[in-house]
Amino acid sequence: MGAPEDDSSKLVQSMSLKDGLPADAPILKPRSDGRSYRRIVLPNALQVLLISDPDTDKAAGSMDVHVGSFSDPEELPGLAHFLEHMLFFSSEKYPDEDSFFKFLVEHGGQSNAYTAPEHTNFHFEVSADHLVEALDRFAQFFICPLFAADATSREIKAVDSENSKNLTTDVWRMNQLARHLTSKDHPFYKFGTGSLETLEVIPKKKGIDTRAELLKFYEARYSSNLMCLAVYGRESLDELQKLAEEKLSAVKNSKKDIVRFPGQPCSAEHLQILVKAVPVREGHTLMLMWPVTPELQNYREAPSHYIGHLIGHEADGSLFALLKQLGWANSLSAGEMESNLDSAFFIVDIELTDVGQEHMEEVVGFTFQYLSVLRKEGVAEWIFKELQAVCDMKFHFQDKMTPVHYVSSLANYMQLYPPEDWLAASMLPRNFNSEVLSEAIQQLTPERVRIFWHSKKFQDIATDEEPWYGTRFTSKKIDESLIKKWQSADVDPRLHLPNPNLLIPTDFSLINDADSKVQFPFVLKKSDMYRLWYKADSRFGTPKACIQMHFNCPESNYSPEASILTRIFTKMLVDYLNAYAYYAEVAGLSYKILVTVHGFQVSVSGYNHKLIVLTKKIMEMIVNFEVKEDRFKVMKEMVMKDCVNFRFQQPYQQALYNCSLLLEHRRWHVNEYIEVLPDLTAEDLRQMFPRILSRIFVECFVAGNITSKEAELLIEHVETTLKSGPTVNAKPPFSSQLMEQRIVRLEDGSDFIYASQGLNPQDENSALQLYLQVGQEETNMNILVELLVLTIKEGVFHQLRTVEQLGYLVFVATKNDFGVRGIQFLIQSTVKDPGALEDRVEAFLERYADTLEKMPQEDFKRHVDALIEMKLEKYKNLWEESSFYWREISDGTLNFDRPEVEVAALRKLEKEGLVDFFKSFVQRNAPYRRKLSLQVYGSQHLEELRSVVEAGRDSCPVESKYLLTKEGKVLKGKDGEEVGAKSRGRLIDNISTFKRAQSLYSSLKGGLHPEYK
Ligand SMILES: [Zn+2]
Repeated sequence: MGAPEDDSSKLVQSMSLKDGLPADAPILKPRSDGRSYRRIVLPNALQVLLISDPDTDKAAGSMDVHVGSFSDPEELPGLAHFLEHMLFFSSEKYPDEDSFFKFLVEHGGQSNAYTAPEHTNFHFEVSADHLVEALDRFAQFFICPLFAADATSREIKAVDSENSKNLTTDVWRMNQLARHLTSKDHPFYKFGTGSLETLEVIPKKKGIDTRAELLKFYEARYSSNLMCLAVYGRESLDELQKLAEEKLSAVKNSKKDIVRFPGQPCSAEHLQILVKAVPVREGHTLMLMWPVTPELQNYREAPSHYIGHLIGHEADGSLFALLKQLGWANSLSAGEMESNLDSAFFIVDIELTDVGQEHMEEVVGFTFQYLSVLRKEGVAEWIFKELQAVCDMKFHFQDKMTPVHYVSSLANYMQLYPPEDWLAASMLPRNFNSEVLSEAIQQLTPERVRIFWHSKKFQDIATDEEPWYGTRFTSKKIDESLIKKWQSADVDPRLHLPNPNLLIPTDFSLINDADSKVQFPFVLKKSDMYRLWYKADSRFGTPKACIQMHFNCPESNYSPEASILTRIFTKMLVDYLNAYAYYAEVAGLSYKILVTVHGFQVSVSGYNHKLIVLTKKIMEMIVNFEVKEDRFKVMKEMVMKDCVNFRFQQPYQQALYNCSLLLEHRRWHVNEYIEVLPDLTAEDLRQMFPRILSRIFVECFVAGNITSKEAELLIEHVETTLKSGPTVNAKPPFSSQLMEQRIVRLEDGSDFIYASQGLNPQDENSALQLYLQVGQEETNMNILVELLVLTIKEGVFHQLRTVEQLGYLVFVATKNDFGVRGIQFLIQSTVKDPGALEDRVEAFLERYADTLEKMPQEDFKRHVDALIEMKLEKYKNLWEESSFYWREISDGTLNFDRPEVEVAALRKLEKEGLVDFFKSFVQRNAPYRRKLSLQVYGSQHLEELRSVVEAGRDSCPVESKYLLTKEGKVLKGKDGEEVGAKSRGRLIDNISTFKRAQSLYSSLKGGLHPEYK
């Protein structure tokens, strides 16, 4: 495929403008896109893009305002971000706090916003029937925002909590450090998030009224002529146009100019610097960064795209391939970042190995050598054409995404590109211009480089501290002699341009296999070594497919050693495949190889034309696997770092992890991996590998634009290859060997606490996950769990986040472990310890019984309808559809018609049913309640942890079958059945002891279902 030709049949006419402006060039749209688009400009100069999609379940809208944190006043860092929070809160017409959020939740929607340096983006989605009211509410934020005075201090706390969540995250820390080392008079230097310090404490001391400044900022910067709106709905373009005119014409136009920030953030003193900084996580990264002309200014020539494609290449001849061969790097990425209207950076980000860490100067040297290959011969039209063909294919066959994400990016593109490119933006390189490309490469020289090198090794020398995040670092000028050396070095012959890409698909025809177009996946073929599920595409008409293969290998998980060696095996496999598969990735195919509890899984997806070629290649690599000493070492180091880095996850993620350790029958602890890893050798894997693959059962699912014949041939090929590969002679497993994952079944009335210290001693955040187990896969129970979560959600968010300000992360969700359903409440907080958080959740639930009972019928009905709508929501693309089916297959639930069945049950449900469910399973003292409280204590709550542990020692032993009173008596409930002590959970002090004492749910995949016999 070549460049898009000038063919008007592929273009939509945008209509002439109401206010008499001339019509623009037509909007370029993807060939496979059946939606219609129209641009209008309202009398208040607000630009609007209308998108009509009669098939959509969701409507959406996004407003992008051309102002952001670069415009923050000097004395109020974070003001633009704070304004984003306050604006999206209440309006004169709809003054109730969170009422927009509440409306959206009740109508299957959601909303969010973000603040960037030069713009602020607000967006929402809602079920397609409710666009009119949603848009009315949304518009009011821009017509008459209330900026409610009494919400000021609370929302400052919300901003502060958001910031404190970022404080221990390296991405945020390192971004700010890069900003810190630029000119103070360029806004890039600023801190954009804001905190309690910058928005309240310091302003108060200086006598600055934050809210008054907020209003001033709003008056000065918000104006309809700086706004772009994208609206997505089921209605026709004419109806959408009427709607937009009606709802948004009242946004005030005060005719502001876009504020530009010309000039580069770096002066001479900020170039040629080497910065050594200490990250939170293990691992070494090297980031080379150059200030460049933003690609936006030449987006049709696509210089950054082009250069990023080559520097980021991973096949033979590339920078990464060489660094990997030397054992110096684990990953490399390149491209433009921090792009604004007048400034941008080109960044090469390299993850170094421990050995690579000792060769920093050479790594940088090779980077400059590769850049000099680009300078000498890299501006090549054939490479540009290839890139163009791939981009063209990706643009024209792009999958539908969620309307809210779509409009949010479109509203942003509207600010940056001429109307004809509002959809394509910079996705399509169009003009080969060697001059532009050469100039762009010219900017990436040793004289202009900034090097940021992150490693814990710098702990002792990093004497400076970045003020906002406290990152320790040291910065110095790079020696002139080193710069000279980098400038003049000869190019290593191992570095060269990539070869032509043979994996770019050229056949986009659709299969016409009428018999195979059934509604649901079915078992097409099976043997004692595999089961092939198949579902041809009957919905999307796109030349794509996906192949899932789970290799159940009984020997892969019998010990922590076996499990971690299997993980290293999959990593090495990906490593060996990389040089070949990178071409596939460039060509729009993707693959994943992941370790699972009982083996490993290979997923391949993308354009079907070359998909089977790639899958066969993966099989070939599996059966020809050999353990290379040097690569084993690198992969082992990588796995070790992953394990160790586990402790730098957010505390709520630790709670989630602890929960799965407690619930999943077969699961090793990360500490066990950390213990066994150091002693494992390449020889161990050499011995282990044939055992892992000695007995295999493959569960396979093929979906999309692939015929049933092709699918059968593929699985036969897989079987033959496994049975007679050079290093593998697999047999089917014995039935007794096939162990499926099983889940701990908590007793009715149980109430457990697992309390632990946050693994990162620097993290002040604590977290609570309150898990209520309900039961295993059953239609009525499933819908009650989901309906309750949907009904309770808005109340939880409003009470615990908005009113009580417990933390930025507050949510309630369903939990589904291999068909075992439950409800979970999650809060991450710096203000309260997990025990206190739990009290808050319990207090909320206590009141909620009443709320639920008094809930008017029509409110109940609305929630039911919202859930029905969510369930009937159509899959937007092949990936959504096939991952739903694949989950049904791998969980063993096989309810392919789940949405229809559950909707039928929902239609029959009465309010009493939900109230009953709440009283039986959820509220405190409910007879069937089964509670597990996962508490992670951050650095400022260690005292509380101590007292919880002490109190835990006095309570009853975990092994006891029934819950006991403090006096040791078995409690009896109604019908004389033994139930639990109600008031206080019992402490779990040992995960394994706990699990051994519990019973288990059956595995749905155990063989009871005829398909699994
Ligand atoms: Zn925010």
